[in-house]
Amino acid sequence: MRIVPVNTPTVVKKFLSNYIWEVPSTEKVLYLTFDDGPTPEITNWTLKTLNEHNAKATFFCIGKNIENHPDIFKSILDKGHAVGNHTHNHIKGWQTGTADYLDNVSKAESVIQDRIKNQKSTISNKQSVVPKLFRPPYGQIKPKQGKALLDLNYKIIMWNVLSFDWDKNVKPETCLNNVTTKSKPGSIIVFHDSLKASKNLIFALPKVLKYFGEKGYTFKALNT
Ligand SMILES: [Zn+2]
Repeated sequence: MRIVPVNTPTVVKKFLSNYIWEVPSTEKVLYLTFDDGPTPEITNWTLKTLNEHNAKATFFCIGKNIENHPDIFKSILDKGHAVGNHTHNHIKGWQTGTADYLDNVSKAESVIQDRIKNQKSTISNKQSVVPKLFRPPYGQIKPKQGKALLDLNYKIIMWNVLSFDWDKNVKPETCLNNVTTKSKPGSIIVFHDSLKASKNLIFALPKVLKYFGEKGYTFKALNT
């Protein structure tokens, strides 16, 4: 039985209104997000596919994966996508004390900001301040952890459309349908550039880009 819906219920969004669930918009714009990378093969494939459709996106990276694959992280920045923090070790907020949670987020943030700083010296970047974006792994975050991160000027980015790409019981066609039927202008859509999700991702992503592209949508990064 699926207990998490594809669309985030309004009651949840109202209750946790300090978090960002969508970007209210009357324009045809969608915000694709990719969690859990950088992952060899999958992230590069994702970048290439986005590029073919002139699409920008936001990558919520795991700090440890950035340390392991700095070249892939650099490619994400080079291509003009946004990056966000997904903790250093993909930890669960509900099972972690607030101090430990904040430490883990901060560790990943140092890795991210150091690399952005290096990158800025080599590429022109029109933004002088890079916003700190954060997405909690598994969507799990205690109110105390959320408040502490907001106080540290993080924007906490949730979603209003889940593709369920990571779920082995979800067929590629269903993953595609989840996105094409539930997205609307300003939706924040969750995919994963991970091995686990790759079968569904590789099927669904090009079709999502084509489907909405033909309807006149553009795909933007969350820092714009
Ligand atoms: Zn994750």
